Amino acid sequence: EPELRFDDVHFAYHPDRPILQGLSFVVPAGKTVAVVGPSGAGKSTLARLIFRFYDVQAGAIRIAGQDIRDLTQDSLRRAIGIVPQDTVLFNDTVAYNIAYGRPGASQQEIVQAAQAARIHTMIAASPEGYATRVGERGLKLSGGEKQRVAIARTLLKNPPILIFDEATSALDSANERAIQQELQKAAQGKTTLVIAHRLSTVVDAHEILVMDAGRIVERGTHAQLLAQG
Ligand code: ADP
Ligand code: ADP
Repeated sequence: EPELRFDDVHFAYHPDRPILQGLSFVVPAGKTVAVVGPSGAGKSTLARLIFRFYDVQAGAIRIAGQDIRDLTQDSLRRAIGIVPQDTVLFNDTVAYNIAYGRPGASQQEIVQAAQAARIHTMIAASPEGYATRVGERGLKLSGGEKQRVAIARTLLKNPPILIFDEATSALDSANERAIQQELQKAAQGKTTLVIAHRLSTVVDAHEILVMDAGRIVERGTHAQLLAQG
């Protein structure tokens, strides 16, 4: 797996208002690093830079040592899988939503990804069996299940780098814990950047970066940050 690195990244939407002011950190290969901070800190901006919705104005973002500006749009897409905050699904089958944009995927792979992400609440009750229901139109999915579909999408894609962009913020606390566990399983062995609102949702990260006003103001493990108050 590649490492993901921010080297002294600067970014502003408007020249007179700097947003990211010299952001440096490393997500080591196969590890999970979390970014937490209040709203307005610059967390979504940081995610947009990784996808090159915008380019950095100074410094660089590197994947396996390579400046992402030197990668093709295609290889950047292949390298990164994202689980966003609100997954918007097509009005189609679960299978279609899992496999969208992955023309090579077989039915069996799609069903395996659905099972691994445990998209089950609607589906397990069915006597016709899992594979049939995954291919059924018009299933009503809850918010938690939509996030499971997003997780299944990334499992099927199997990218080396994962970004969880407030992936559980829209869920109630019971669902949040359940989806948290699925995300942790999906992140196993992957280079993972977790963007989160609260410290309590990123307990297991290798390192946690606390951001405020475009800078990292504290960093450490969950235990270290708690000890500092
Ligand atoms: P967070 O995700 O931590 O809430 P954001 O990255 O969304 O923070 O925002 C950081 C700062 O950038 C905020 O002050 C916000 O108002 C500003 N900002 C975000 N998006 C834009 C944009 N498209 N144009 C101008 N300013 C923006
Ligand atoms: P694919 O594009 O192959 O369907 P993903 O769903 O994992 O795979 O999305 C990866 C790419 O899609 C990213 O590189 C990014 O450009 C874009 N993308 C999708 N959703 C978002 C989002 N919520 N925020 C930013 N980028 C996104």
